[in-house]
Amino acid sequence: MRLASKIVLLFCSVLTTSLVHAQNQVSIIYQAPVDKIETSIKQHLKASSEISETLALINDTFRLDAPLQIIFGGEEGPLFDGDSLQILIPYHFVKEVESRFVTAEYDDSGRSIAEATIDAVMHTLFHELAHALIFMHELPIVGKEEDAADSLASVLLIELFNEGQEIAISTADLFNLESTDSETFEEDDFWDEHSLDVQRYYSTLCHVYGSNPEEYAHIAEDADFSEDRTELCIEEYNSLSHSWFTLLAPYTHDDQASQK
Ligand SMILES: [Zn+2]
Repeated sequence: MRLASKIVLLFCSVLTTSLVHAQNQVSIIYQAPVDKIETSIKQHLKASSEISETLALINDTFRLDAPLQIIFGGEEGPLFDGDSLQILIPYHFVKEVESRFVTAEYDDSGRSIAEATIDAVMHTLFHELAHALIFMHELPIVGKEEDAADSLASVLLIELFNEGQEIAISTADLFNLESTDSETFEEDDFWDEHSLDVQRYYSTLCHVYGSNPEEYAHIAEDADFSEDRTELCIEEYNSLSHSWFTLLAPYTHDDQASQK
């Protein structure tokens, strides 16, 4: 083959590869709202710079084998659908989150209801992204996939965002609010694929503390963690973030996922 032909072929191959990568991006679709409440939720999400920054960060950080859609609206979710490669987050879920923060007068915490609601949506996006990455790349997961998805959501928030710990704390507080829905546990609470809400609350706080023990010493104190657990939170967070970045390294652009 003549050199010129080889160069043309090589160029075409590079171009095709970059086009494939450009197509295999995550995009957001906002479905038509069905009522005034959904309309206001859609406006809140669309106006949120955090949601658009999250999308940009996901696209800058991860390589996907196929396009992934995040769909706000509809009835089902939050969930990741492996058949359609879609993350579904209904507007009514976002409304429910907002209502829980309103009822709890969460703005007394120093974080506004609007901020806390977007925080929880971001954690949900990363939790469902974890399911998508595990599915697409057949990542080996030892233990409950739901716990793995929660831990990746916390690690990505903490490592990729300047306010990541604050975002994770709002989400932990949401788990705590959800844990008060029922005063007694039923059998299905124990066989559910998710850990109990109260466990998700403590795990998330443990990881926030473990990520920066000096800055978040008050979290370990407020949660009343034992001295041993406090030490383990540091080891656990380091182990989780190391494990996730090792698993995801082949599927990231450069090393952005390891830098804030
Ligand atoms: Zn899940």
